[in-house]
Amino acid sequence: MDKIQKFLAYNGKINITAVETTELVEKARKVHDLSPVATATLGRCLSMGALMAGNLKQEEDSITLQIKGNGPIGGITVTADGKGRTRGYVENPQVDVPLRKDGKLNVGGAVGKEGFLYVIRDIGLKEPYIGMSKLVSGEIAEDFANYYYTSEQKNTAVALGVLVNKDGVKKAGGFIVSSMPDATEDELFILENRLQEAKPISQMLEENMSLLEIAQDITGDSNIKVLEQEESTPKYQCNCSKEKMENALKSIGKEELQKIIEEDKKAEVVCHFCNKKYMFNEEELKCLIGDVS
Ligand SMILES: [Zn+2]
Repeated sequence: MDKIQKFLAYNGKINITAVETTELVEKARKVHDLSPVATATLGRCLSMGALMAGNLKQEEDSITLQIKGNGPIGGITVTADGKGRTRGYVENPQVDVPLRKDGKLNVGGAVGKEGFLYVIRDIGLKEPYIGMSKLVSGEIAEDFANYYYTSEQKNTAVALGVLVNKDGVKKAGGFIVSSMPDATEDELFILENRLQEAKPISQMLEENMSLLEIAQDITGDSNIKVLEQEESTPKYQCNCSKEKMENALKSIGKEELQKIIEEDKKAEVVCHFCNKKYMFNEEELKCLIGDVS
């Protein structure tokens, strides 16, 4: 079952957040009919979204991740909130690229090695906080580690993994590890070595290791502390509504709306995140025009 858990290692000097997202990513695969490499790509991004949302303070806070690389998958968008509701989409869900030489799905090839990554944090302030960095490999985890380093000046290790076979998602998950300023060089050295030697996260999940066992394994600390937290299982869930779609329609402006009324007498708006269709008839569209200031 999908789960998010936070841990403290080395007497509180190392923070770990770990997540299993197998069901979440499988739901995304079904919603968008994703190809295997698109499943791995969006799955890694969704796992990252779930991890980052796990550190939001309020339920209504949200985080949006956007990746714009030069690869054939096109743009990637993921959003997650403080309740663990996570959703996302890619521009080209059917993308297919040859496997890597080692036989693995070529996520970096689908995403592209050049481009940008954006992190938008909406924590109820007047303006959302937007951070960005360049892509380094398009493999997602490396790109986010680089984002933390260059944009937030934090040393953070990131691991993300999705195991896909012909029947769908077998395992998916990830973790982020960051150190407090009081961590010693020796501790950081041990941690770095453990992280380098760790098996891929999807393999550890496949071996039925619990998130606690994974956290112990990657830190080498068997006295790791599990942080108590409120129940917030990450799940694939959209929060679209007719009202939100009305706002989207209004944002295209009076003239465009007028044109739609004249040409089609109706509008169909599809939610990118869940593919739900919203119909607007002539009356409703005229009403919307009246609302546009
Ligand atoms: Zn939706």
